[in-house]
Amino acid sequence: MIKNQTSEDWITPEKWKTGLEEVAPKVYAYIQAHGELGVSDAGLLVDREGAMAIDALMVPSMTRRFRSAIRRVTAKPVTRLVNTHHHLDHTGGNHLFRDAEIISHTHCREEIIRTGLPVEFLQQAMPRFAEEYPRLKLAVPRVTFEDRMIFHQAGREVELRHLGPAHTFGDAFVYLPKDKLLFAGDIAFYYVTPMAFQGHVGNWIKVADRILKMDVETIVPGHGPISGKKELREMRAYLSMIRREARKRFDEGMTPEQAARDVKLGIYAKWREPERILPNIMRLYQEFRNELDQSLDVMRVFVGMRELQAEWDRDGEEHEMCI
Ligand SMILES: [Zn+2]
Repeated sequence: MIKNQTSEDWITPEKWKTGLEEVAPKVYAYIQAHGELGVSDAGLLVDREGAMAIDALMVPSMTRRFRSAIRRVTAKPVTRLVNTHHHLDHTGGNHLFRDAEIISHTHCREEIIRTGLPVEFLQQAMPRFAEEYPRLKLAVPRVTFEDRMIFHQAGREVELRHLGPAHTFGDAFVYLPKDKLLFAGDIAFYYVTPMAFQGHVGNWIKVADRILKMDVETIVPGHGPISGKKELREMRAYLSMIRREARKRFDEGMTPEQAARDVKLGIYAKWREPERILPNIMRLYQEFRNELDQSLDVMRVFVGMRELQAEWDRDGEEHEMCI
């Protein structure tokens, strides 16, 4: 199914559906259409003893839908849950996997504890799911690793790997060498603009390069449809373009807000949520100043993105009226 689809097809929303799909024997990707803010993908590995889930999605309605999809393919309980990083759209549903040992990179656990559940902030930043945030409960990983952890199960190795900071400072991906399959978490965004507000773009490019050298055919991204190295290469090209263009404008003394309006997005304007260019540039400016230990003001990020989106919508309408 993957081979017959083109990039253009995937950008068309009706070709991109929510659901569970078997990507290797007893291994499944759970994709959520259409990958926008808060709407992420997950994974499932079924073996004799129990099942392992990769990420728990965000609000209860999403996690319940994922859990019903799991029940349709196995009666086994989910006994292990991997968090690919701390963002709520991947960890918010942790508390609904009551039988699972939760596993993550050390930094991911620390960030989940530090961030907690800021219900009011979430209601302002992602109002679409406002009613559901008060129902969330914090569930923190109890097993952590630094660089690599391997599970030997059902005749295959399941490797959890961390290759340094990329989308966040605690990213983990899940690699199944025998199946040439990789669950990338938010190291990979397909047809959705990557978001780097807590990441390290320069190193993210290097991490993408290392994955591109691995023996991998199928990649399940954190947001977007199941794809492979071609799409990862496209995402890497976006990061590299944005880093180069941000650097020029940083040297010219532009503010991130000015730079975000000045850079021409070209083909990347078609990806979902192109306004993420603003936080990406804000974060790159911190990278250029060697200030990645400082965090961005997340409220400024969300307000700035909304303003940029509103401006583009207005420009689009004016453009249509002129035609
Ligand atoms: Zn994320």
